[in-house]
Order: sequence, then C-alpha cells, then structure tokens
Amino acid sequence: MLELWERESTFERLREQNRGGPTWSFVDGPVTANKTLGVHTAWGRALKDVFQRWKAMQGYDQRYQNGFDCQGLWIEVGVERELGLNSKREIEDYGLAEFAHRCREKVIWSATELTRGSRRLGQWMDWGNDYLTFSDTNIEYIWRFLKHMHEQGWLYLGHRSTEWCPRCGTSISAHELVGQYEDRTDPSLFVRFPLRDRPGECLIVWTTTPWTLPANVAAAVKPDAVYGLQEDGEWVAVDRYPDETYVRRVRGSELVGLEYEGPFDNLPAAQGVTHRVIPWDDVTLEEGTGIVHIAPGCGAEDFELSRVNDLPVLTPVDEAGRFYDDYGWLHGISTGEAAEQIAANLAERGKLVSSGEIVHRFPFCWRCHTPLIFRISDDWFLSVDDLRPKLLEANATVDWTPEYMGKRMDDWLRNMGDWNISRRRYYGLPLPIYECGCGHVNVIGSRAELEERALGGLDQLEELRRPWIDDVPIRCAECGGEVRRIPEVGDVWLDAGIVPFSTLGWQNDQWVPGGYATGASAGISGADLPDHAYWEQWFPADWVSEMREQIRLWFYSQLFMSVALVGEAPFRSVLGYEKMLDEHGREMHGSWGNLIPAEEAFGRMGADVMRWQFCAQPPDRNLLFGYGPAHEIKRKLLTLWNSVKFLVDYGTIEGFRPSYDELAGGPAVERPLDRWLVARTDRLVREATAALDEQLTFRLLEAFERYVDDLSNWYIRRSRRRFWEGDEDALRVLWYGVVQALRVVSPVMPFLSEHLWQNLVRGACPGSPESIFLAGWPEVREPDAALLDEVAEVRRVVELGRKARDSAGIKHRQPLPTLVVQGARLAGGHADEIAEELRVKEVDFGDVEAQELVVKPHLPALGPKLGRELGTVRAALAAGEFEELGDGRFRAAGHELAADEVFVERRGREGWEVVSDAGLTVALDTALNDELRLEGQVLDLIHRLNSMRKDAGLELTDRITVTLPADQADLLAHADWIKNEVLAVEIEVDGGGREPSIAKV
Ligand SMILES: [Zn+2]
Ligand SMILES: [Zn+2]
Repeated sequence: MLELWERESTFERLREQNRGGPTWSFVDGPVTANKTLGVHTAWGRALKDVFQRWKAMQGYDQRYQNGFDCQGLWIEVGVERELGLNSKREIEDYGLAEFAHRCREKVIWSATELTRGSRRLGQWMDWGNDYLTFSDTNIEYIWRFLKHMHEQGWLYLGHRSTEWCPRCGTSISAHELVGQYEDRTDPSLFVRFPLRDRPGECLIVWTTTPWTLPANVAAAVKPDAVYGLQEDGEWVAVDRYPDETYVRRVRGSELVGLEYEGPFDNLPAAQGVTHRVIPWDDVTLEEGTGIVHIAPGCGAEDFELSRVNDLPVLTPVDEAGRFYDDYGWLHGISTGEAAEQIAANLAERGKLVSSGEIVHRFPFCWRCHTPLIFRISDDWFLSVDDLRPKLLEANATVDWTPEYMGKRMDDWLRNMGDWNISRRRYYGLPLPIYECGCGHVNVIGSRAELEERALGGLDQLEELRRPWIDDVPIRCAECGGEVRRIPEVGDVWLDAGIVPFSTLGWQNDQWVPGGYATGASAGISGADLPDHAYWEQWFPADWVSEMREQIRLWFYSQLFMSVALVGEAPFRSVLGYEKMLDEHGREMHGSWGNLIPAEEAFGRMGADVMRWQFCAQPPDRNLLFGYGPAHEIKRKLLTLWNSVKFLVDYGTIEGFRPSYDELAGGPAVERPLDRWLVARTDRLVREATAALDEQLTFRLLEAFERYVDDLSNWYIRRSRRRFWEGDEDALRVLWYGVVQALRVVSPVMPFLSEHLWQNLVRGACPGSPESIFLAGWPEVREPDAALLDEVAEVRRVVELGRKARDSAGIKHRQPLPTLVVQGARLAGGHADEIAEELRVKEVDFGDVEAQELVVKPHLPALGPKLGRELGTVRAALAAGEFEELGDGRFRAAGHELAADEVFVERRGREGWEVVSDAGLTVALDTALNDELRLEGQVLDLIHRLNSMRKDAGLELTDRITVTLPADQADLLAHADWIKNEVLAVEIEVDGGGREPSIAKV
C-alpha cells in the first residue's frame, strides 16, 4: 500500500483536493530525536494520523508539519553515554564544538529513523519539511519571547534551593519532576542535639537525608504544639509519643531561641554558626519527632526559613553533588556515600539515638535516573504571578478530552511556582542574557540585534549555539562596556513551547523559503518560514494531542508562551491519553525485556493491528499493549475478513458488477432484511462520525465491532440461500455494507481498507476514486430507527433462545418443537426467522407460564441510587415481595427498579428451559420425539458433508455424489433436503462403509 500511495501520489492528491477548503489546524508536538520509533511514540503518531485522515476525508485543508525536538538534556545524555563521558568536565575536555557536532549527528540519525518508522505506521506527514527545534529560526523566536518577558519585568535571577541532578550537574524545574518519583530505601536517623544552657537535655530530630546534617543551622518546632522532656533528658513532641512519661511539658514557643550544639561543629564549614531553635507552623506531627532539622542549603522550605529567620546558609556540595573542601573528612565524597559515614561518626560521638531504613517516594532525574538532591543555586526564572489569572482564563477556553485533564491543567496553573528556565549544560538553547558588571541585564531578541551589538566573534558563529555564541561579546546598553553571555542554556520546554509561533511565522514580514533550514537544521529540513498572514490563518491550532504527562510540559509551555505573547490559548481542543504499559500492566523497560520495539511490532502484528490497539483504548485508562491483545484483534478482523471473502466468492461466481453511485444514498431494495442492512450500515456511519467528533476512537471501534457482528452473524447468515441462488440484491446490499464499513474504519486501518477498496471498488467500478482516502467521508440518510430496533429485538430473542439451548445442554442443530417469547414488542413479525434461527417448529408470542421468578439487585447500579434503602429493597427481593411492572421493571419496598438495575432469573416448568434478560423472556420446550431426532441427525449429516466438501477443496459450485453407511439408511427419508444442502446429485447406501463419503461428479 505504501508503494501504491507513493506511486500514485495519493497523499499529495488528497491535499490538492482539499486545498482552499475549510481549514482544520493541527500542530504537531515535537518528538525527541534521540532514538528509533518506539511503540509509545507510535501510539501518539497513530492518533494524530487517524484524526488528520478523517478531517482530510471530510475535505479539510490541513497542515502536516512534523516536528523534532533536537536539543537539551535528552540529546546530551544519550551522546555522553555513546562517547563514554561521565561528567561535565569530561564533556569540556572532549570539546564543546565537537560535542555539538556529535549531538547534531545523533539528531539526524534519529530523525531519519523516526521518519522511516512513522511512514511504516502509515502516518501521512509532510516529511522532509519538518520543523527542528534546534534551528536558528526556532532559537530566535525564543529569544524574542525572552526579550518580551524581560521587558515586562518577568525575567529575573533567583537565588534559591532547587531540585538538582548531581550527575547532569544542573537544576531541574518543577514540571520536570512529574512522574519522576519512585519508591526508594533511605536511611532513617534519630539524632541528639544537646542544648547549650541546659546540661543533660537535648532535642531529638529525625532525618532521612544524613548528608544534610553537616549543613544544619537550626531546629524547628511547632509553636503551639506541646513538647515534653523525658526522664533521659530528651525533648520530643508529646503528640508523637503520647504513651511516654514526661517530667516537664511546654509549648513549642517556649523552646524557641534556645541554642544547641550542632551535629558537626567540628568541621571547618560549621565554625561560627550559632545553632538555635526556630518556630515553624508547618512542622508536621505526622512523622518524626516533631522537631525538624533545618539545613537551608539543602532544602527548599529550609531555604525559605533562612530568609524569615535570618539563618546562615551552608552549601555543602558542589555541582556534582560532592562535599566541598571545608567539610573536612567528608570532602570529595558524594551525598550517597556520606550517609553511612555520617551515621557512624554520630554513633561514635554518642549523638545517634537510633538508625534504620525507610522506604519513601523520592524524585529521580528524568533523563539519567540519578536520585535528585536539593542545592542552592542561581537560576533564571520567569515569574508567573502576573500571568497566572490569564493562564487560567485561557485554559477555560480549551476543550479537553478527557475532561479531567483540563482540571489537572487548572490545578497545575494554580499551584505552579516560577519557571526555572536555565540549565548549566551545553547542547541547548543559548539563553540570550548578558549580565553586565554594571548591574544591567541585556537580553538580545534576535540574530540581527546580536550582530548589531556584537563586539567581535561573528565570523566564527557557526550556529546560535555553544561554544560559538559564547565568543560573541556585546556592548552593554547601559554602560557601553563589553559583556559576555551567561553560560547557561535553556529548558527544553522553551524549545517546544514556542512552536505555535516559530513554525507559523508569527510577526514575520516576509515568507522565507527554506527558512527553517537554519543553523543546526541546515540541510536536514526544507521547511519554509511562513509570514504573519499564515500565522493569522492557522493560529490557534484546532487540535493537539499528546500523552497526559504533557499537561505540565508541552501543553503548559505552549500555553504559557502563548498567553505571554498574544494573550490567548494556542489550541482550541486537546486529546490527551494515559500511559502505555505492557499487556500485564507493568511499565515497559529495556532492561526488563518487556519493551516492544516498534520495528518488531510492525513485523509481528502489523501496522493496522497496532493502530487498532492504540485506537481501541479509552484515553482515560492506561493502554496495556502487547501481542496478546494483538492476537485478539486479529481474531476480530477474521470475522470481517470472512464476510469480505463471502462477498468476493459469490460476487465472482455471479459476475456481480457493483455500482459506485449506490454508495451515495444506498441501494434501493425492497426486502426488509436488505433494507435493514442498509439502515444498519447508515447507523454505523453515523456512530463512527459521532465517535470521531468526540475524539473517542474506541467508540468508533466498538461500533465497528458490533456492526461486523450484525453483518456476519445476521445479514450473511440469514441470506446464505439467496447468495447460493445468485440473488443480486443480496450482493448489492452486502457490497454497500462492506464498503461503507471500510470507509469509516479506514482512518484507523488505512492499509487493509485501502487494499480492499482497490479490489472491491476501484477494480470493480469504472471511474470510481482511486483511493479510499480520495472518496471523501460517507454521508448517509437518517437510518430507519424503527426497523433497526425491530431487528435488534429479534437478535436478542435469538440470543436468549441460544442461551436456553446451552443451559438445557441441547446442541444447536437439534430441532425442537416450541419457543414462547414474552415481553417482545417489535419482533412479532419475525416469527419465521426466529424459528429458523433457533430450529424450532413454532414460535409463540405470549406469556411464559408457570414459572418461578427470582429477582436480584444489580448492586453497582442500585447502591448509588438507593443509598441506605438498599438493604430494605434487597431483603424484599430476596423474600419474593415484589411486583412486576412490565418492560422488565419491578417494584419492591416502595421503590421502582428499572430493567438494568436488576438481574432476573425465571425457572421453567419441567421440560421447559427459561431465560430472561432486561424485560425479555423466552421459554424453550425441550421435549423430543422421533421425527425431531431424525431431523437432528439429518442436520448433523449435512454439516459433516459440507465440512468434507471444504476439506476436499471443492469449489462452491461443484456437484457431488454421497455414499452413506447402511445404518444411516433411515436418513434417506430426507434425501431431497440433504441433496439440496450439499449440492449432491445422488445419495446411495453402501452396506460395506462405516462412514459417509463423497465424490465429485
Ligand atoms: Zn541527571
Ligand atoms: Zn553595563
């Protein structure tokens, strides 16, 4: 199919066909270009393709620009691993220019791989005109944004305690911590802080981060809590140890101001620090001792307390998380290694009360999986307070699916702190900040501005990137002195967040052909930089779609930048979806051996089945992806395949020529069953359209599955004889049903549906569209609801009849005398069909007699409805105290219960099997006589002979002769019937054989 589309330029023709039509604007979230295509990424890409194909079939003019995320920690960490570099120093020794080139090569490799995988998935994009976030174009747009932020007074240098990755040597901002918490075992220490002026008394504190103890400067108590002194001289909160005996009790406020001996006063760093007790309302009485150890250099809250209480700030570890020299025997060791030594040292000096271990949630670096620490650092921030109300307002204009994800965004917007945008790394957006010694902060807004203000170094400026950009000093706008760029690079979410501006040409005067192929992306992309009119046309996006975690990442950074620049949300609607796990519900990890590479999935399950699996998933639940579910999908597709094969086989025999025009409006047919399938098909089209309108692909597939069941297990099953007899109406109707169904499922399964379109439509109808995707989205009349309801009820009766047979243990081929149907309102005209389907001689619509009725509550439905009344109703039902109201409704203990709120069991008289469901009851007479038994044997024989025909590889039209063993001679009473069913010209009985046999004539 890929070749066919390529050869016939199907995608280009589709775009051409829609050009100038109504627009539907899609903006792609960039995929990180550091790997091959994984099944996780394939999920999102499949959804994007489904909706773009669907909108294209509806005639919408669209953008198909794919995006790659090309710089930042993601790329760096991967390249470091490949080069065997383990620290920032090693990167610098390797050389930043060389490192930048390696990073770019990695991006090119990955972009090529991702493109190949995505094409194989069937994704139609404007490949080769991708936007790459490391282009100078993208970087300039972020510069412009940062300059704007600076002009508003929203850019500042913060000095604070932040989450820090010691391996990556950089701070990590709050949104990057999402989902990065894992259970971890840490030491748990209880430590003595002896009070200076009260010999024999000491505070007891609890910590799970022993490495922070050398930086201790204070101990916090809750002012209004009660603290008690135990006989052994230890102070703790009474609420924490209510059963202990205390010699004295005081309020926390009375302890405030006391001085104590620090845990590591002997280290040079702690010299001159006065340790004292401070008040803090947020001290928890849920864990620990109620006295909290405070190290402002190692914790965010601690740092805030240092400002309020004017505490000294000790920063014990460097960028790599190793102790500084003034920490004596600790110097040079990491925070992890220090824990044990610190505990041992405290024990030696009699300061350790006890030590143990604790398992708690702990954050890890999202890129390299190193446990994070807190560290004081100077970082650049964007302040959010002024923007917060506007962000909330903008989010209120967005239509989120599932809805709760919009609420999550609201929660995030209400609670997030300022955005830490600086990273102490190399291969990233160079922050255009030039902080001058005179105190002035210069922020450059474009390359042109940089060139204008540069004092040199422009000739070597290969890209707007380190190391080259660092050698372009500028003149300070305030003092005129030379000033150099700060060394930091930007948070990657700036790169992705600017996309709705940088790719659409916001405030760009002139369309620049190839404008995106600048800087690092030169030679990789051919994408133009459009002009502002284009931005006006395509902004905001009508639709974006990514995984839930993007709420705080891409969705957020886009929203933030968009609200800051133009005051509105950059998208109108969002489809989010939850996580992908393996089929047993575990995370997928390369090291656990359960990660499925997309390449392997293409080979073992095929792109269509992968897409089906992605689309069958409700977006509010995790997708359990794997080969087991794929197998199940293939089984479902087999039913469709068999129906198509049936159409092709009989169509070929009869030389059937479908008419393309019948797809519009449906074939005009008279028989109720034919009219029903046309209506049933039209309903499918409507259900599918509604499902996609709601962005719920799983509903489309549910509707499709129900339809295929109706098509195969009702229409074809009920029409077999007409196909054998070459009834053209049956073929027309079946063709209509199959083709329309393929059209609505084609966005999900483009390969199979296009393949079948080529055979069933293009090859059969001269002048028809050459691709299913060029044929538009089907439009159908309002289906005949009455007819659909009627047949739906008939099918329910038949299902109940089958259940009755199963529970009576009578096989489906054995004819039975009577079926009584009670509660059917629409199926009355279908007695013959029901009789035939259930192999009963007679169907009566009326009351099922002499039955025992058992009604049980459906608890999940009734519980919420009845509340505490449930018990009463339950008891009444159990005691048989209820009244039947018709339509499956009951009244018990004064409450009316609907059909779907109860389970009903009816037990039949002797010899009758009774089954009920939601207001419908059938009773099957199971009494057999000789004649019925004989008919049952004849049907067994017919079945057997037809299987033999199939096994012998006979054509559907081949005639045969049949030879029966002597003991089956009595079946000859029905010889004509048998001949007719198995296309036999003759049946004879041969005394010698023990089994029947057939021979082709
Ligand atoms: Zn890291
Ligand atoms: Zn200056």
